[in-house]
Amino acid sequence: MAQGAGDVPVVYLHDIKRQYVQGETTLTILDGAKLALWAGQSVALVAPSGSGKSTLLHIAGLLESPDDGEVYVGGTATSGLSDVERTQIRRTDIGFVYQSHRLLPEFTALENVMLPQMIRGLKRSETVKRATEILAYLGLGDRIKHRPAELSGGEQQRVAIARAVANAPKVLLADEPTGNLDPHTADHVFRALMQLVKATQVGMLIATHNMELAGRMDRRVSLEAGRVIELD
Ligand code: ADP
Ligand code: MG
Repeated sequence: MAQGAGDVPVVYLHDIKRQYVQGETTLTILDGAKLALWAGQSVALVAPSGSGKSTLLHIAGLLESPDDGEVYVGGTATSGLSDVERTQIRRTDIGFVYQSHRLLPEFTALENVMLPQMIRGLKRSETVKRATEILAYLGLGDRIKHRPAELSGGEQQRVAIARAVANAPKVLLADEPTGNLDPHTADHVFRALMQLVKATQVGMLIATHNMELAGRMDRRVSLEAGRVIELD
């Protein structure tokens, strides 16, 4: 794990505050949350439902803005950036995996993995090559022409992972990625994620309720009173 002097985290959350106002009440979800995520490191975010895990991941992934604090991606402060610039960073540096696969149903596995690369402007032939390689790497070499409905839950989730890493992001954020899977399939998908961290040196933050999986990651954190705390 790269953490030498002079290195910067792939994502650094500094004093993040996030509130939701609903009618008369203000819910403070994050309140001074700090977290450094390093290249090649897998971090489990384990906290009760409703404690702000998804909120933290969305903020780290530039999908949502904090009310206060700063999100640094690869050392770059993002709060002053335009929407276009933030979108650009999201496309090139950040991969996101959700609990449900969110694949496009009318496209094949291959096309689903090609799309983020095409949006980024890569040549079609290049995206075919790269998408085929990633899918094969994740054990889906004989499933590339299948549509999501023709794949098992674990296969769908591995395609979603392939899509998330298609642009070789620095950061992989996964929100309960194995939450809908049976234990055996969850283990398979989890191993695929861990394998990617080692192979690509992406920094990975996974929100999970699965303590067994969390125990196999490099580091465990939780949320308490709106702050990130280290477990162990
Ligand atoms: P977790 O992922 O840990 O279950 P979330 O980050 O989804 O938690 O939500 C944290 C809290 O913030 C919950 O109490 C939720 O109801 C509230 N919340 C999340 N999103 C919104 C929103 N868009 N508007 C109002 N409240 C929200
Ligand atoms: Mg959640």
